[in-house]
Amino acid sequence: MRRFRFMRDPLATEVGDNVETFLYDLGGPACIFLTGQDITRTRALVTLQHGNEPSGALALHRWLKSGRQPRVNMVCILASVPAALEEPLFSNRSLPRARDLNRCYRPPFEDAQGKLAEEILEILHLHHPEAVIDMHNTSGSGPSFGVCTHMDRQHDALVSLFTQRLIVSSLRLGALMEISEHSYPTVTIEVGGREDDEAHELAFDGLCRYFESDTVLAGEKTDWGLELLHDPIRLELNENISLTYAASMREDYDITLKPDIEHHNFGSVRPDTVLGWARGPERRLFTAIDAGGRCAVTRLVRIEDGVLYPAAPLRMFMITNNAGIAESDCLFYAVEDDGTTIN
Ligand SMILES: [Zn+2]
Repeated sequence: MRRFRFMRDPLATEVGDNVETFLYDLGGPACIFLTGQDITRTRALVTLQHGNEPSGALALHRWLKSGRQPRVNMVCILASVPAALEEPLFSNRSLPRARDLNRCYRPPFEDAQGKLAEEILEILHLHHPEAVIDMHNTSGSGPSFGVCTHMDRQHDALVSLFTQRLIVSSLRLGALMEISEHSYPTVTIEVGGREDDEAHELAFDGLCRYFESDTVLAGEKTDWGLELLHDPIRLELNENISLTYAASMREDYDITLKPDIEHHNFGSVRPDTVLGWARGPERRLFTAIDAGGRCAVTRLVRIEDGVLYPAAPLRMFMITNNAGIAESDCLFYAVEDDGTTIN
């Protein structure tokens, strides 16, 4: 396993002219400590857990080039630098055969990814941050949102530095944000699509607020006006089911999804919306477990005459149009849309 590279208060001239040289010089997972104006408090930023999600690294590099000093100490962790550097830059989520790093924050910490996750946890525990933000991009285009495991004023306030949408999920997958339950307020921020300039801008603007605000956890304001979605269900592909994306049904695949399916990200999707084509029954193709541990496949999707539809009005998000991600992670997350999810 590659060693962590530690840097303290690097000068603007020491971080490369662009993000590529910055990451290349780091060479592996890195921890950059920035001394704050107030040295009694520390916050943490974790990003690049997935090598194909550039917004956090771009934002941090831009900050380091600006020569500014954060309000409090900042511990910044860039995790999957080797995956990001694999050619072409920012195209590989993980190195080949490596587990998804953001599923590794629980024991056993045995393989290289588990050990990297354990080391990140150790760095966080050493610095005892007042908050942790884990910054990601979505693989498809779409709006920004935050994710946390439970909702309170602190988590609301952290998310609202970046976005007005918050998903509260009781799923336990081994993600970094799950440390919230016993350590520090931790949220995942998905700043938007990995190729969207808007996402890169939001990452930087939010990072500046996170680095420069005196208080990020809870102020006077208690109503953050967040749009809340509770307990999303993951629609996963069953073993040995083949999936592709195409504008019409592909006979040689079990499931064909429309390539523009990602356009439904966060929108309300009606039950007559064609998502794609498939040969049923639904439970042969998909797995979906709700927060109570029940099978929810037929509450999410239905197949009628070879056409795949939502089974009910849904709010869908994290929709991928990448078959590799759909196979290894999930096709999308959804909540049943009863029209009252706007808080
Ligand atoms: Zn990610």
